[in-house]
Amino acid sequence: MTRYTFCTVMLAAIAPCVLGLTGCSRNRSEADETPATMVYFDTASRETLTLPVGGDVPAAHPETGQRTLVPARYCPDCEHWHASPPLDVLQRDPRSRNCPKCGTPLKDGGPAAEPS
Ligand SMILES: [Zn+2]
Repeated sequence: MTRYTFCTVMLAAIAPCVLGLTGCSRNRSEADETPATMVYFDTASRETLTLPVGGDVPAAHPETGQRTLVPARYCPDCEHWHASPPLDVLQRDPRSRNCPKCGTPLKDGGPAAEPS
């Protein structure tokens, strides 16, 4: 009886550690396999698309090859992605960080872009 109780206590103490470790290693391997992505706004078609982070801006569209992709930022009020202005405009005019329609501060992240 006491032996059974001892085992139960030990298991209860060890289980969270083991689960925590496996959880960590699984998350890390997923991060290694999945490249970081961000949402771009296509100034030509006015559509959004999700692509791996990196490269120059404006970035080349994977289908047209035209450099029409700029970073997109999300308005939680309009529930819409907007093209982010160039960095120099962002630094010069703080209002350019807000939604052009409703004035709500835009966020870098949001729901994944609709597959086109
Ligand atoms: Zn808005």
